Amino acid sequence: MPTAVTGLEAARSLIASSRRILAFTGAGVSTGSGIPDFRSPGGVWSRFQPVLYPDFLASHAARQRYWEMRRSMWPDFARAEPNRMHRMLAELEARGRLLGVVTQNIDGLHERAGSRRVVALHGTNRRVRCVACAEGGEMAPVMESLEADQVPRCSACGGWLKAATISFGQMLDPDVLRDAFDCAARCDLLIALGSSLVVYPAAALPEAAVAAGAQVVIVNREATPLDSLAAAVVHGELEEIVPALLGD
Ligand code: NAD
Repeated sequence: MPTAVTGLEAARSLIASSRRILAFTGAGVSTGSGIPDFRSPGGVWSRFQPVLYPDFLASHAARQRYWEMRRSMWPDFARAEPNRMHRMLAELEARGRLLGVVTQNIDGLHERAGSRRVVALHGTNRRVRCVACAEGGEMAPVMESLEADQVPRCSACGGWLKAATISFGQMLDPDVLRDAFDCAARCDLLIALGSSLVVYPAAALPEAAVAAGAQVVIVNREATPLDSLAAAVVHGELEEIVPALLGD
């Protein structure tokens, strides 16, 4: 296991010498675009209890709570624009240095910034999907007509609609998961940006990269359980650190 070297210079030199970088991003990458993360103080989990997928299927009160939370989050998602970090990762890919982005985010901002290879582990909040027939649709028109305590229904079969995201207690899409682990096995450096690295199986990705011989750099405001696995760890604000790491 590599020895952790704390600091910007170590991370910068690892990035400069790597040719197949994989970015693994969490909610911290999008807080600069006005979308709060869930775990930080004032985040969504301090205002709402997460609704587990089995509860969504079983209970109408749970479905109502779920959509109330979605409605309160939506304005931030609807007005968010990609920030400098999303754009820097897209540029690194265009320059042939980045294999792609595996993200826990559901905001679609990497794609909007021009990233071409994006593996969205937790799906997208910009679309809805019927839990009965899997028919999909855009989130925006659903939100425009949604009233308090209402749970939207599928126009094809009348089933309940849910955001096309992975809820707690819901299986990740096995094809998406396979894609993510393929990327981890092919990279020579994984940079984890703005993720608390506590949600599995997403947090297993840096471990898989190390097992395949890659190095790991972790950048986050707070310590993560995987810091000891990383060749370099930088704690602080992504908006300051990422330009220093990825800039010319
Ligand atoms: P997470 O586990 O990715 O944690 C976010 C981490 O980023 C935290 O450790 C926080 O300290 C750090 N952070 C936040 N802003 C930062 C900044 N400016 N600089 C440095 N570090 C910063 O995410 P979560 O909030 O626990 O959310 C859990 C899940 O909910 C996600 O995996 C995702 O599926 C969903 N989610 C998505 C979005 C989005 O799409 N933008 C936002 C919130 C939650």
